[in-house]
Amino acid sequence: MKKRKDFFNNVTGSRSFYVTLVICLLVFFGAIAMLITAFNRLISRHDQQLSGEICTLISEKMNNSIQSMTSTTKSIAEVLSAQDFSSPDEIYDRLKAMRNTEYISIGFIDSENHLYATDEEAAEFAKWQLYDTAAKADPVSISAPYRSSVYGQPIITMYSNFKYDRVKQGSMFTTYMLSDLQKIAATESLVNDIEIYLMNAQSANIIQCVGTDEHATGSWANAYLSMQNINKDDWDTYNEWLQQVHSGEDNIGISYSIGDTFYSQYCSEIQSMPGWYVVVRIPSNALSATMSTFRNYVLIFLAILLIVVVVLIINMYRLSKQENRMLEQLSIHDPLTQALNRRAFDFASEQRINNSNKDAALLFFDIDYFKQVNDHFGHDAGDQLLVAFCNVLRKNFEEHGIVSRFGGDEFVVLVDMESRESIDKILEQVAEDAHNITLTDKSNEGSFMISFSSGASRFPHDANNMPDLKKCADMALYFVKERGRNGYLWYDPALKARLNSK
Ligand code: GH3
Ligand code: MG
Repeated sequence: MKKRKDFFNNVTGSRSFYVTLVICLLVFFGAIAMLITAFNRLISRHDQQLSGEICTLISEKMNNSIQSMTSTTKSIAEVLSAQDFSSPDEIYDRLKAMRNTEYISIGFIDSENHLYATDEEAAEFAKWQLYDTAAKADPVSISAPYRSSVYGQPIITMYSNFKYDRVKQGSMFTTYMLSDLQKIAATESLVNDIEIYLMNAQSANIIQCVGTDEHATGSWANAYLSMQNINKDDWDTYNEWLQQVHSGEDNIGISYSIGDTFYSQYCSEIQSMPGWYVVVRIPSNALSATMSTFRNYVLIFLAILLIVVVVLIINMYRLSKQENRMLEQLSIHDPLTQALNRRAFDFASEQRINNSNKDAALLFFDIDYFKQVNDHFGHDAGDQLLVAFCNVLRKNFEEHGIVSRFGGDEFVVLVDMESRESIDKILEQVAEDAHNITLTDKSNEGSFMISFSSGASRFPHDANNMPDLKKCADMALYFVKERGRNGYLWYDPALKARLNSK
């Protein structure tokens, strides 16, 4: 059985199929990896562009609102200049009356540098050197953002010069919450993800205006120190970006990662606050959520497509293999008994003889009076007998040999042989098994005792090639038939002489 598998099983085909499949899968995954890289590059470029646009928009909005704050301060100063006041206290009273929700404090500094403000405001002036900023007003100046000790929020103070008592120079101020700027700056759609900072180009000090953590709003930090948080690989690019801002470049973007999150950051100068920049930072997933979802859908679709295609290919391969096996089966087996046909036997027996120098026996079998079976029991019963007899041969020989139906009621067996006696024993068993075959007698015409005649030859004793071995076994069979059937005979050279003498 195993030998037959060795002869007929061709595994090369399936191996090459799986190798091709693996190569195709590798190419597919390579293409997917390239696709993902291209997608990610596209997403990152898209992020930078978008964050740049958002940042420009925000800085424009901040510029506008700072300008509107300074012009409010300037117009209050102009109103003050146009009026006559009996004392500075009267000016202060007028200013206090103008307090509204727009600005959180209002006051002025007179020509003797005396501050008219609340005690808390006066403390802020001392703490944040606001007198210096006030002195710079020409006609207006703006303080750097600072944290109010009253509100705990970042605030910004605007100054504007004005004249009083015709000749005296005063400087009035209004203070605004930076959150008023933030409200203007944050765009609705990105309100939960966007982070906006003000950055001083010289010191790289940054103040958070809008952030994911509300408590951090108004806190100060330094960009060089914050750089420690980002992934080390991006430090050089980040440093370069800070240098560019320091040297006064405008509208510059950068991408970097913190942990697994990829950020796009962009800065734009605030025209009305020289030396100050708006910095907008947006995590990639906020900007590219749609594109990333689309990319993931494409990947899921491709994965499903791949599974379907692989399953289809493997199924088709299995079906074609099954078909081939069926065709192979039909081409090498006798359809009635399933024993090897003559052509397959010739091939298999040649292989056995050529590749082994072990002794073997070739046995020819022919059922005795088989025509009578057909005649008495019918052709179907004849068929059944052929199958049953073939099964007997299989049972006794197939473990160590090859069983074949040569045609009609003739069978041939090539079997390993330890000794003639061992084969004799098997032949006796075959005879016993054959006698036990019972035919189904439809017409109840009695039973039929099966017998067979067999001729045997030995390899390499009688012949060392298949054609001669067959001739020998056939000759032995002839003499068994001639002497009256139901028996077997080993070839002997004397038989040849007897045949010749006939
Ligand atoms: P002998 O003892 O001399 O062998 O006589 P026999 O009657 O067995 O004669 P022979 O072996 O020459 O005849 C074989 C017969 O087998 C001839 C044919 O009608 C019959 N036969 C051949 N193939 C089949 C088959 O597939 N099925 C059946 N039922 N009969 C077949
Ligand atoms: Mg016969």
